[in-house]
Amino acid sequence: MDEPLVFLNGRFLPRSQATLDIEDRGVMFADGVYEVVHFYAGRPFAMAAHQARLQRSLQAIALTPPAEACRLAPISAELVQRNRTPDAGVYWQITRGPAPRQHAFPARPRPTLLVMTQPVGPLDFAAPVSALRCITTEDVRWQHCCYKTLMLLANVLAKEKAHQAGCEEAILLRQGRVTEGSSTNVLALVQGTLRTHPADQWILEGVTRGVVLDLARRRGLRVVEQALTLDDLHAAEEVFLTGSTTELAAVTAIDGRPVADGRPGPVTTALYQAFIDCVAAECGITPASAPGTSAAPAPRA
Ligand code: PLP
Repeated sequence: MDEPLVFLNGRFLPRSQATLDIEDRGVMFADGVYEVVHFYAGRPFAMAAHQARLQRSLQAIALTPPAEACRLAPISAELVQRNRTPDAGVYWQITRGPAPRQHAFPARPRPTLLVMTQPVGPLDFAAPVSALRCITTEDVRWQHCCYKTLMLLANVLAKEKAHQAGCEEAILLRQGRVTEGSSTNVLALVQGTLRTHPADQWILEGVTRGVVLDLARRRGLRVVEQALTLDDLHAAEEVFLTGSTTELAAVTAIDGRPVADGRPGPVTTALYQAFIDCVAAECGITPASAPGTSAAPAPRA
């Protein structure tokens, strides 16, 4: 396969020719923000919500993006097309750019804008909801988890701890309360109510979380944004995770204990189906005729 292209500071370049200054503030200080937009069959899902969150993150760290940032949607669409990766996570990163290593902001920042694609599998209407095992670990992140910054070391260490334990995700606990996963939001059905941490400073307000909460409300489920405890998780009828790449995945074990009967529950499965339908409608995808066959793009209306 040809080398993929990336978009760096105004140019489409082969991956191996795209280089950053060693004093880029993204490298030195994690001084930057990012987004991941899931493209399905060449079309973005929830683009406007990702753009809005990017603006909030940029504003929070007082970073004025380069001019091309207002073209992130067409740049991303061109990149998935040129890389022939219609199904991909498209990664956007904006840093405060290269400057001599001093903590204070540079007088004249030259922000770095990077866009790259990470191929994923196509939407598969026949695939069952994924079942993931989780560990729990202390949430040691800073107090502004609502911004999508590059400062992910605590998330990385938590995810690695999960992998070392033979699990897929780490659920983070702050003073006994479940905040979120290392790269996902955590939701649970407790006594028939769908509960998740409120969208405050302690979690990233996931775009997928928002879509799924809307779908749940529309299906008549009672939704409460109130933090769960570990005891709530262990007593829950169902637990699941959401994220742009993860989509919606059932949690079937936590710290080695099964959640309910250890299989994805009916509410999780129904919400997963509703989510897939929502993606398909927005991205113009129709179910393939044969089960297990990947979906095909429908003509644009
Ligand atoms: N929480 C954290 C810490 C994340 O890193 C992510 C995604 O990367 C999410 C939640 C899910 O957010 P979204 O649904 O917008 O992808």
